[in-house]
This record gives sequence, C-alpha cells and structure tokens, in this order.
Amino acid sequence: MLALVLERQHELSMREIDLPIQVGPDDVKITLHTVGVCGSDVHYYTHGRIGSFVVKEPMVLGHEAAGTVVEVGSNVKTLKAGDRVCMEPGIPNLSSRASKLGIYNVDPSVVFWATPPVHGVLTPQVVHPAAFTYKLPDNVSFAEGAMVEPFAVGMQAAARARIAPGDVGAVIGAGPIGIMVALAALAGGCSKVLISDFSKEKLEIAGRYDGVIPVDLGKESYASAIARETADWGADVVFEASGSSKAYNGIFDLVRPGGALVLVGLPVEPVTFDVPGAISKEVRIETVFRYANIYDRAIALIASGKVDLKPLITGTYAFRDSIAAFERAAKALPTDVKLQILMD
Ligand SMILES: [Zn+2]
Repeated sequence: MLALVLERQHELSMREIDLPIQVGPDDVKITLHTVGVCGSDVHYYTHGRIGSFVVKEPMVLGHEAAGTVVEVGSNVKTLKAGDRVCMEPGIPNLSSRASKLGIYNVDPSVVFWATPPVHGVLTPQVVHPAAFTYKLPDNVSFAEGAMVEPFAVGMQAAARARIAPGDVGAVIGAGPIGIMVALAALAGGCSKVLISDFSKEKLEIAGRYDGVIPVDLGKESYASAIARETADWGADVVFEASGSSKAYNGIFDLVRPGGALVLVGLPVEPVTFDVPGAISKEVRIETVFRYANIYDRAIALIASGKVDLKPLITGTYAFRDSIAAFERAAKALPTDVKLQILMD
C-alpha cells in the first residue's frame, strides 16, 4: 500500500510498503478518511526519537484517525460496513494486569500506532480491533473524529484532576494539548480556565473560547494573573502542558492550598522541583499518560455541542501532499494548532 513513510530522521517518502491487512475475527478493516498530524509524528521526523522510542527502521506515521468501516471480522457485532468511526491508536493486551485494572494505557505491552517499531495510519486502509474502534454520531465530522485522539489527552487530564464544579483551572502552555486540556477542564466543570504562553498568536486562538482567560507571560507573571483571578487563593487545579522544565520554577505558587497539579507535558530531561513548596500546601500531584476509557466520553461531548474543536483545524492537505504538511508542521508556526491530511 502507498504510505507516508519516515525512512529515518529528516527523511520522509511517499511509497509502497507492505502492511498487514488480514482481518481477524475481532477486527474491522477501515478505509481512512482524515488523519491529524501530531506533535509526536513531527518529533520522530525532526529528532528520530522520543525518549527511549527510537526510529531504527522505516515507519509509517500518523495515529489521529477517522474513517469508514469496510469489513468486519466474524465475532464483531458492534460495527458494520459503512459505519463512520474513529480509532484509539493504542492496542493493549486485554489479558494484562493493567488492562484488568482498567489502566490499559499503562500496559507495558501496549502497541501504539506510529511509535517505533509500530506502523501508523497515513495509508489508505488499516485493520484494527473493533474494541478500540468507535462509531461517530452523524453530527460529528471525520475531521472532528480525527481530533478525538488529542482531545482524549485533555479529557484524561481533566479526569485525573478530579475537578469539582466551579473550580478555577490554570493551564501552562497554549499549544494544541494545552488548548485541549483547557476545553476539557471547562467541559468538566471549571468556572474558568486561565492559560499561559509567551506566544501572542497561540493565546489569541485559545482566548476565542468562552471561559478561557489568556495570560501573556511576556507581560505578566502567571502567579500574579492567577492571584488576581482567585482573590489571592490560587488555582484549584494547575495543568502543566508545556513540557518545559522552566515551568517548574515556582509552580506551586500557582496552586491553592490543597489544590492539584496535573502533569501532562513531557520534559525531555529530568526536572527539579520544589518539594517543600508542594508539601507546605499539601498539593496533590497527578500524571497523565495518553488516556484510558475516554474515547466514548470525548465523542459524546463533541456530539453534544459543548466542545467545538473545528476552529482548531488550521490547515488541511491532500494525502499526496503529506510531506508538505509535515514540513509545515515542523516549522511550528504559532498560528497553527492542528494540520490534517485528507486520505481520499
Ligand atoms: Zn496525537
């Protein structure tokens, strides 16, 4: 099949590659419609690795996907040919201890699209377990279906935060994931969510949403903005979504006593942080790794109209122009949130 292949760091090609398309009894075959370009896809292209995951052999990119079921395995009762769907890109071992605990995202044996050595889905068709394939309601487009994956990270962060109705949230970093976290926190009950960045363009995009308060770190410290918005009490939940080690300087000044800090961004190096600052406020610290049992809720929220992800799609490319899409994504333009590739 034709696919967008990352041959090695800095080298992409559109070429034929052998991919398994045998439909097992519990699988479905999907013709892909829309695939989003993710920061991780771009990072493999520009750096050749993420942490311990290293690109050693050619790998098909892409994991944020929606499409149409064209064939179902003999055991599959929940889906049929013609169903519009989106897919959860991680396949755990359903017999694993982690899966039995409901935390299949941290199953050490999870197989995740476009994470070396596993191929992704920038190719016309893929076979996937029906258990990780979700039907899209009629009012949710393929483009939105392909946004469920990054939004699920935001939803997982909101779930880990254990938001109480009316909480004030504060997100560090207005990149795609930061914005997803802010929208999920609002949908999860926050009365308002501050979001900080140094980029005016990113803040302008985030600030278009009702309830999101952008804070320009070039003009004002985050601690003073949060103090102003919370009568000097601090945010109930702070989400770190920048992945910058610098964000940890003074991070506990942002959290209210007894509040929570949720770590979403992945720093490339170990970071130091202020343990006494955390202890003196008895801050609860949570971490987020992808998501588990989130997709159906994310789709339901989008279908309800409470979350509108469409404005975040800032560019769409044809499949044959995938390399151009990746070159643009690698530039990390501050006015871009999500680029998508149309497969047909
Ligand atoms: Zn992604």
